[in-house]
Amino acid sequence: MARPVRVERVLDELRRGRRFRERPAQKHVEAFIRHIAETGAPHLWPLISTTTPSSITPPILLQKFRLPDRFRNGLQSRAPCPICCPFSPKYESGYLAWHPDDGLIRAIGHECGREFFEGDSFSDSVNLYEAEQVERAERDFLLASCHKLSRLLVERWVIRIELCARLRTRDELVASLTKKAVHRLTRSLASNGTLTIDVNSGSKDHQGRAVIEKRVLGQVSGGKSLVGGADILLALERPFSEIVDDLSIVRDDRTGLLEKLTPREAINAAQEIRRLFKVVEEASALNDELRNLLTIESLAVLSRWGQHKECPHPFWIANSEGGVHLGKGIKPIRLTGTKFICLPLNFRTA
Ligand SMILES: [Zn+2]
Repeated sequence: MARPVRVERVLDELRRGRRFRERPAQKHVEAFIRHIAETGAPHLWPLISTTTPSSITPPILLQKFRLPDRFRNGLQSRAPCPICCPFSPKYESGYLAWHPDDGLIRAIGHECGREFFEGDSFSDSVNLYEAEQVERAERDFLLASCHKLSRLLVERWVIRIELCARLRTRDELVASLTKKAVHRLTRSLASNGTLTIDVNSGSKDHQGRAVIEKRVLGQVSGGKSLVGGADILLALERPFSEIVDDLSIVRDDRTGLLEKLTPREAINAAQEIRRLFKVVEEASALNDELRNLLTIESLAVLSRWGQHKECPHPFWIANSEGGVHLGKGIKPIRLTGTKFICLPLNFRTA
């Protein structure tokens, strides 16, 4: 039968641990994390020192850690801290810290350093640690997203060309139907695409006011793209830095290229790439909406609204070879000489 995990928490004597002349390598930090996960006892890690550090120089914080829940059992679950309680259980959350003064690494309670080290020096150590964590996360993100960059940059230009053309057609459409009419129409367009028109029911309410009913005219696919979109196009055209270009091209030694980046460059490049992901996603969603809107089917529903006898701003759209004729007011009997908008073939396939 497996015995419950019990780790000796209290030390009999102080241990010196291993001395490091330089900041210990990441592999040691990883070994420490494994040790904590297995034992819950930072002070028993072979390389660690349990002696009290000098308070003059603040430590370099290597890793923040928390004792695993499964070792938790009141006081017994805590670790002794070389700063304040070398021989008795003290903390549940701490830092693995390297002390440049004596080259030793210690596991200290996460708050213990604030009073112990001179001035605000421990806060500076914490700030540096947090900044390093951000930088590491951003570098990991860069490494993980590099291989998608070249495809994404190409996609950005393809979508830009399509979006530009579709927005131009959409703007021409809106101008022909009048902005006022389109504005009024969008208010009758539900978020699920159902287009209604306000119709006087003929009856009156108890205050003698006419009762207005909403009559459903049909579904408009891509109706959200009737307004806006210029900001997305602008964001799509905003240039990216040379670093992003470099990262998209280099194939065999991306890790080397990433290591050459300064912390600031790495963080900025990660932000730019997040922006690239976001803008391509938004632009492609808008592009899909416009593709759906600029179809004979969707435009026919809009026309039904514009031609309804109760429509406050009448307009008409008529299907024609390769595009649509359209205009404000009532649809004329002859379409000759009326405004025509071309819907290229790919625009008509939803
Ligand atoms: Zn402490």
